[in-house]
Amino acid sequence: MGVLKTPRDPVKRRLLRLHVALLARFGPQGWWPARSPFEVAVGAILTQHTAWTGVERAVANLRSARALTAAGLAALSAPRLQRLVRPAGTYRLKARRLRHFAAWLLASHGGRMAALEGAPLAGLRRELLALPGIGPETADSILLYGAGRPVFVADAYSRRVLARHRLVPPEAGYEDLRRFLEAHLPGDPRLFNELHALLVAVGKSHCRARPRCDGCPLRGDLRGRPPRG
Ligand code: SF4
Repeated sequence: MGVLKTPRDPVKRRLLRLHVALLARFGPQGWWPARSPFEVAVGAILTQHTAWTGVERAVANLRSARALTAAGLAALSAPRLQRLVRPAGTYRLKARRLRHFAAWLLASHGGRMAALEGAPLAGLRRELLALPGIGPETADSILLYGAGRPVFVADAYSRRVLARHRLVPPEAGYEDLRRFLEAHLPGDPRLFNELHALLVAVGKSHCRARPRCDGCPLRGDLRGRPPRG
């Protein structure tokens, strides 16, 4: 007789239930919206402090210029690259960050995002974090969505939901939250991918600065009274 395994870890059980409830409500999110792993990395760098529509325009410009590879991007002059990424805002800074990223990928990994799929994860993450302007959220987005590595992107949406559900303290930092999620979830990049995207979806639709718990798919998991924001 087949036996369905129930996780012994109660936190894991809860997190997986949240995932099921979110998936049932919002469906698969199909993240990251990009045509190639290198484009994921470019989008992750460009999206810092800006709206996605601007990123899409900048990425379209880079595509037209055939600059969505490490070699193609590195071959552009600084002024040309700045012009192309201008729609994403703070374009001088972002152009510089993209050039550093492309130079690193070329020098350390043969310019191939596929090389990131098998490199030792801790060292790879350290290398990314050492690049100018690449913080934990950007590095982890590149690793998860661009290289399929089991790293959770523990962003502000995830923190808000999990803190309101008393799974983590409200003051939990990025690394605390990432380690918490990675410790309590199966190390499956597809699960991390979908759950992160779904937490963003519920964060935008219900779990805003002022939460809209009525009608939220996670309402049944709340412990105690609904938060006020
Ligand atoms: S809106 Fe309320 S029920 Fe929904 S995730 Fe936020 S705290 Fe939980």
